Amino acid sequence: MTIYLDGKFVSEEDAKVSVFDHGLLYGDGVFEGIRVYGGKIFRLDAHLDRLFASAKAIMLPIPMTRQQLVEACSETCVRNKLQDGYIRLVVTRGVGCLGLNPFTCKNPTVCIIASTIELFSEEIYRNGVKLVTAGTIRTSPAAVSPAIKSLNYLNNILAKIEAINAGTVEALMLNAEGYVAECTGDNVFVVRGGRLATPPISAGALIGITRGVVFELAAKMGIAVSEPNLTRYDIMTADECFLTGTAAEIVPVASLDGRPIGSGKPGVLTLKLMSEFRKLTCSEGTPLTRS
Ligand code: PMP
Repeated sequence: MTIYLDGKFVSEEDAKVSVFDHGLLYGDGVFEGIRVYGGKIFRLDAHLDRLFASAKAIMLPIPMTRQQLVEACSETCVRNKLQDGYIRLVVTRGVGCLGLNPFTCKNPTVCIIASTIELFSEEIYRNGVKLVTAGTIRTSPAAVSPAIKSLNYLNNILAKIEAINAGTVEALMLNAEGYVAECTGDNVFVVRGGRLATPPISAGALIGITRGVVFELAAKMGIAVSEPNLTRYDIMTADECFLTGTAAEIVPVASLDGRPIGSGKPGVLTLKLMSEFRKLTCSEGTPLTRS
């Protein structure tokens, strides 16, 4: 595998960062997970917009232009002969002194990995995922905004551990007020009476790119979408529920804390959105080019 690291393409063995990188020492950095379908990068502009916004929020100057990032992502895929897969674009604060001060880090580290990813099994796409509610509360937007896609994933990892300990793979995360925020690595939607609802970003959710795609698909299909505060009750009593994420795409939810949602099987609208989403990934994207 060939990795992009700070302007060079290096082998996996040589793709190493310093132990003084604040990305390692403090989780100080930002990242994106991006998909490639059929030799085209899906929603690259939206991912780069979010990367630059996350970086701005933590005062991290990305040492490359948008165009250079596009070319580096593209070239990493080409060098790895990746037509379908997943790009992980990471920008860390870089090497600095011990101690929190980020301004001792003069050169942010940029690395790009182009590989494959499979978050959930085939079985889950067929039958739906069983969610449990995590006891770990989603980070408050007043602490570190969950809208920042940062390298600090401990909050989500603690909830993921709860899911795994409970014998499943994904957990629902609530905010400090008890409203639904999102899952550990995906946004959450419910369907009720033919309409869609998903928590507002202010509830503590990432501004998911796939979430945005579902908004677009719903608009095209004439389906209303709202962003009210949702409780566990709203999920348990919904007609359908599904998760959205770049790696996961659209994942049907079968149950929450042992209560089947709707029929307990992937819902009609969920299946329709999954198929429309698939069509879109085949039809659009930024073509891979060699620079
Ligand atoms: N929430 C969290 C916490 C995430 O990490 C992700 C990305 N894996 C998402 C939501 C979904 O966002 P996107 O559709 O942009 O991948």
